[in-house]
Amino acid sequence: MRPKKNIALIAHDHRKMDLLDWADFNREILSQHNLFGTGTTGSLASEKLGLPVFTFKSGPLGGDLQIGSAIIDNEIDIMIFFWDPLQAQPHDVDVKALLRISVVYNIPIACNRSSADFLISSRLMDSNYDRFIVDYSQRFKQEL
Ligand code: PGA
Repeated sequence: MRPKKNIALIAHDHRKMDLLDWADFNREILSQHNLFGTGTTGSLASEKLGLPVFTFKSGPLGGDLQIGSAIIDNEIDIMIFFWDPLQAQPHDVDVKALLRISVVYNIPIACNRSSADFLISSRLMDSNYDRFIVDYSQRFKQEL
């Protein structure tokens, strides 16, 4: 990971205000990085922050999967994902896939505000970082 990070912002509807408020509070830090987001979250964040945010499709229309794919392709370094703990989503399987792939590729993720605060204030935000990737292929071989 380079010092300038690619940060994905995603929030379910009831968590969007929380994410936007957090992003606004951390605007200065976020402005030093490249921002990405699912359709609605990304557009709202761009409007609120006055910063460019590359937007994928809306989450329920495949945006979560697009971000997952970008993680696999090493195009997203960090994910701030405020998912809703009180409401099932029509695209729950996509949400699960995105969270799973972010663990597989060992990217830092924050799913609530205090985790996001700790993450964004890390001294690693401004430095290079060698992300360790578990070699799962060895495990597949052992299980055969
Ligand atoms: P949205 O998608 O930003 O387009 O609302 C978020 C999500 O539901 O994953």
